[in-house]
Amino acid sequence: YAPGAAEVVQAEEMFARYTGRRYAVASNRCGSSLLLALKAYGVQPEEPVLCNAFTFSAVPSAIEHAGARPVLVDTCSDLTLDVEDFAQKAEGARVAIVSHMRGKVTDLGRVYAVARALNVTLIEDAAHALGVLHCGMHVGYGALCTCYSTQSNKIVNSGEGGFLCTDDPALAADVIRLSGAFESAWHTHRARPDAEYFRGPALPNYSMRMTELTASCIIPQFADLEQRIARLEQRHALFRSYLARLSEDVEVITVPNHVRGVHDTLQVRVNSHLIDRFELGAQVRGVRIARFGHMENARNHHSWSYAPPSSLPGPDHVLGPPFATHPPARR
Ligand SMILES: *Cc1c(COP(=O)(O)O)cnc(C)c1O
Repeated sequence: YAPGAAEVVQAEEMFARYTGRRYAVASNRCGSSLLLALKAYGVQPEEPVLCNAFTFSAVPSAIEHAGARPVLVDTCSDLTLDVEDFAQKAEGARVAIVSHMRGKVTDLGRVYAVARALNVTLIEDAAHALGVLHCGMHVGYGALCTCYSTQSNKIVNSGEGGFLCTDDPALAADVIRLSGAFESAWHTHRARPDAEYFRGPALPNYSMRMTELTASCIIPQFADLEQRIARLEQRHALFRSYLARLSEDVEVITVPNHVRGVHDTLQVRVNSHLIDRFELGAQVRGVRIARFGHMENARNHHSWSYAPPSSLPGPDHVLGPPFATHPPARR
């Protein structure tokens, strides 16, 4: 290893090996990895870039940061991208970011088929989907690249952090350089393509590298990752059966059988007349709960002034009925 490079280099190799991709590039955040992917792809000013309407604000923000224009695609009741709406809006677009919100995965086979037919390049936002398998494979197997987060709410937690995984050597090399590998610093990376891919003209340096300190938090968390995923699945199954017995008005949003979920969080749909009681009951029991529909919630697209307003039926169904901007008082 080059002096001082060992931790980030190891973490990149771990992400590449774990997800089964040839290359991995670390960054300071998943939002940065998404931006670097768009830049390396060559997104143009004001170009439409599709993304889920129900996703974390970092996704439309990355598109806005790249100077492009977010186009929101509708959402299904299981929190995933609506493939029909995607197929309609993808006509004429060159690139899309598909999010797997809370590890819920859309019908990737259909998305890949639509993308191939319409010549749309896919970037997958698997920020909260590390370890999620679709038909036995890590998500992103039909995309140009897949971006992961190691922010503090994710299963591998380094406070902040991001990774871009890809099999595309030109993309990997450009993302390494854009992230801030100046002069010959790219040499130190090991989950990278051959030297020939680094010979192009200089690219801007966005200074979005991961720190060694961050990477040193990530490395030990891979040791028991699969065991932790298995334990989470057991706990999730327990909650599912408890909530199923509790009331017909509480529905746990799950993943289909062909998806191996990573259940580090739990999403429920609660009949609207019970929402306030459910929320208060959870608070009293010390269970942290967040409502996607709050205007303060970063996943509520009604609060994204930088993404064009839209009247999509899907996300509103997911977000719940409109309500006052303040959550019930804490007890
Ligand atoms: C956490 C998350 C992000 C953002 O990740 P950062 O590392 O905080 O930039 C993006 N998309 C989804 C779906 C997320 O859950």
